[in-house]
Amino acid sequence: MQRETLHEWVPPVKDQKLVVALVSNLENEPLTPTRDSIGKLRYPRAEDILGEEPEKTREILDLMVEKEILERTVFYKDIECPSCRSSNISTVYRCTTCMSINISKNALIEHVSCGNIGPKDSYLSSDNQMVCPNCHLELSSGSWKNIGSWYECSDCNRRISIPDPQHICRNCSTEFLFENARYENVYSYSLRKGIADQYLKLSNTYQAFKEVLEQKGYGDAETTSMKGESGVMHEFELLASRDGQVVAVEVAFGDGGVDQTRIVQWFAKIIDTRVSAYFVAIPSLDAGAAKLASAYKLNIIEAETPANGASKLKEVLG
Ligand SMILES: [Zn+2]
Ligand SMILES: [Zn+2]
Ligand SMILES: [Zn+2]
Repeated sequence: MQRETLHEWVPPVKDQKLVVALVSNLENEPLTPTRDSIGKLRYPRAEDILGEEPEKTREILDLMVEKEILERTVFYKDIECPSCRSSNISTVYRCTTCMSINISKNALIEHVSCGNIGPKDSYLSSDNQMVCPNCHLELSSGSWKNIGSWYECSDCNRRISIPDPQHICRNCSTEFLFENARYENVYSYSLRKGIADQYLKLSNTYQAFKEVLEQKGYGDAETTSMKGESGVMHEFELLASRDGQVVAVEVAFGDGGVDQTRIVQWFAKIIDTRVSAYFVAIPSLDAGAAKLASAYKLNIIEAETPANGASKLKEVLG
């Protein structure tokens, strides 16, 4: 490609890829999370589509939520290790006094038929059967009930009603208490309502302009990014090139006329990249935007419909 000699090119805009994949998946199935073998949060479908590492994929998904392309809903909540974010966690209970893990659970059992109350241990017979120490009958189902549980510390001999839970990360061995644990929302992601429609409308629109560019000998028309002279990357909806000359086309819809914020953004991109540029406003620019566009000497095409705009572009390109 000749334009590579003019500018440094990067792969096509990532989120576009994801939108296309989600739009073309008719059921629009949400992207759901899984945990891999070391307990890390993954979005395998999104990773495949984007061709990115797990962490980068999650960043892109959240960015797309910010851009209001995707929406996320809480799928479940997970305890994560504060140092490696694995959810492969084990939990132990500790004595609240001496912090020993050497504690065991005991329960108070009432033998209903004779009224005896005693610790569970006292009901254990030598052959490991549950036998009442008072009336010597074997405990049958329904004849006894648990009237309370507690823990006993074998090191300091204290009774503990609620022990301190402590977590240990199976992935990196970090030990942490609940106050340091990450208790994270784990999200599923789906396209926002209306985005698929908007995307299809826009992609049909750009298809018309793409065809005009191709008829005029411009190849490789695509949605992509381009680095400006400032070093900043700019995203373009449609860039194409002919004999080393790069042309950019952008289409904007506005019921009461496209406003000046779009013109300011457009101007910033094209002044930095120095491409020939055509801004198509459907059906028109509003008064403020028109004033600005003329001060900036921008090529503006105003048209009632995208098809109309495409044929106007064809005339201008000559
Ligand atoms: Zn860890
Ligand atoms: Zn009894
Ligand atoms: Zn203790």
